[in-house]
Amino acid sequence: MRIETAVVHAGEEPGQFDGALVLPVFQSSTYLYAGQETYESLRYIRLNNTPNHQALHRKLAALEGGESALVAASGMAAISATLLSLLESGDHLLAQDCLYGATRALVTQDLARYGIDCDLVDTNDPDSWQRRLRPNTRVFLVESISNPLVRIGDLRGVAAFCRQHGLVSVIDNTFATPVNFRPLEHGFDLVVHSCTKYLNGHSDIVAGAVIGSAERVAAVNRRLLHLGGALDPHACFLLQRGIRTLVLRVRHQNHSALEIARFLERHPEVDRVYYPGLDAGDSHPEGRALFQGFGGMLSFELHGGLPRTQAFLQRLRIPVEAPSLGGPETLVTRPATTSHSGWSREERQALGIRDHLVRMSVGIEATEDLLEDIERSLRETSD
Ligand SMILES: *Cc1c(COP(=O)(O)O)cnc(C)c1O
Repeated sequence: MRIETAVVHAGEEPGQFDGALVLPVFQSSTYLYAGQETYESLRYIRLNNTPNHQALHRKLAALEGGESALVAASGMAAISATLLSLLESGDHLLAQDCLYGATRALVTQDLARYGIDCDLVDTNDPDSWQRRLRPNTRVFLVESISNPLVRIGDLRGVAAFCRQHGLVSVIDNTFATPVNFRPLEHGFDLVVHSCTKYLNGHSDIVAGAVIGSAERVAAVNRRLLHLGGALDPHACFLLQRGIRTLVLRVRHQNHSALEIARFLERHPEVDRVYYPGLDAGDSHPEGRALFQGFGGMLSFELHGGLPRTQAFLQRLRIPVEAPSLGGPETLVTRPATTSHSGWSREERQALGIRDHLVRMSVGIEATEDLLEDIERSLRETSD
């Protein structure tokens, strides 16, 4: 099945329950005992095995081309259970320097409390991976598109490095989605998602997922069901519904974000634009070549610094100023005040995240309406 068909049909068994075309919400915490002999095979919401979980697992596995999938209560539940299934006290991991804020805090602060060390490295600089590699290194964690400077690293290089050194490669594919990039096809071991973003796509639930081999996903599940990060069946239902339109949404967002990035790049009031779909930029050329589209996330800096940027954001009529991403509505935010406010100013500056940087999550509105709105706001705030 091609991905356009898989989002609709994969994992679905229409009519299985009283002829209902759409799988209903199974709002039952427990199920009749049916002679099971293992804990994991008992039917109970926390064990992630209601009909809503099972259908979603089949669909997610199909989308990422994995053997098996597991949903979790949030992206962070998926990421933390994954890392805790792979690492133990005394182990070391490598992680991308420019990670999602909560993930970065998890690997540098929380895991440290359990005796797990982390080194942050540049995914465009293989020499730095080699320098940081230790005999006890077990995992390399990266993101397919970094946040907020939307850079694509040497992803094929990361997967190959992990194979060569016996590390488990884990990639957060939230920004790219399987519509634009399928990491398992390029040698990664495990894919994680914040399904809160593009997979659900409607800004109305929080959810996460892990996809990979049956063996690795089962190991994550064993951690997750003790940590308790199960996804509620109603959220499963909404996520399954959201995924059905994933391809339509993401392709529109790819197109719209590229148009907006090109417009901004040409505009004299705009200082810098970050979007991996533009020819220029500091993405890795081979990494970039693995993508079918570059997603709906872009960042930019206006001339005139912070006061002008704040005025520009206030004058926008369509984009809403809010953190998060991947929904139907266009969102704008300054990472220095939201997604990256937990970092020190020095840490942000070291990675090129300036205070007036604007991050935009392009929604599914008409591209022309967004362009007109941005153009007007730039005009009204220029002096
Ligand atoms: C939002 C996000 C997360 C965390 O997901 P939650 O669903 O909020 O727990 C992790 N990684 C990336 C890239 C994200 O955008």
